[in-house]
Amino acid sequence: VQVELEDFCKNLIDEIQGLCKEKQQIHLQYTGNTEVWLDKQLLRNILFNLLSNGIKYSDAGKEITLKINAEADHVDMAVHDEGIGIPEKDQPNVFDRFFRAHNAGATQGTGLGLNIVKDYVTLMGGNVTFSSETGKGTTFFVYLPNVMPAQVKMD
Ligand code: ATP
Ligand code: MG
Repeated sequence: VQVELEDFCKNLIDEIQGLCKEKQQIHLQYTGNTEVWLDKQLLRNILFNLLSNGIKYSDAGKEITLKINAEADHVDMAVHDEGIGIPEKDQPNVFDRFFRAHNAGATQGTGLGLNIVKDYVTLMGGNVTFSSETGKGTTFFVYLPNVMPAQVKMD
């Protein structure tokens, strides 16, 4: 379906912001087209997981930024936080099912979120990468193709 992506993100951010009680502030930087062809359910899950990780793995008062640029044929998204970061030796494993990094400490989690993100992004024909430094923060980058589904003709 065609999604009003900017409004969709604003609503999702409001929802997550309500859950984290403004301990951290989520900012949206949106550029490009406002309407895109993306699966809402999958997109919601991807962004929910990445944004809630940003919140969970950063301290109160820190900021999380969701940057989106939507072009005619693809959408680029980046979720940035100034949190605890992912230790270098754990980085190859973060997309593994049930994996939690060694500095996850007392935070609650099943280690499934990023595995699901990877599956959904792949299902949508895109890819997900990240860059992270311990004590400094983490950025997840998601690339998704923006393509109108083929019209089905039945006659
Ligand atoms: P859940 O299934 O509830 O999402 P989780 O957050 O532990 O549990 P993932 O979202 O899959 O699981 O993340 C896997 C691990 O990667 C986390 O346990 C954490 O150690 C690390 N991680 C993920 N995102 C971040 C981030 N933004 N900053 C620091 N560490 C992160
Ligand atoms: Mg998670």
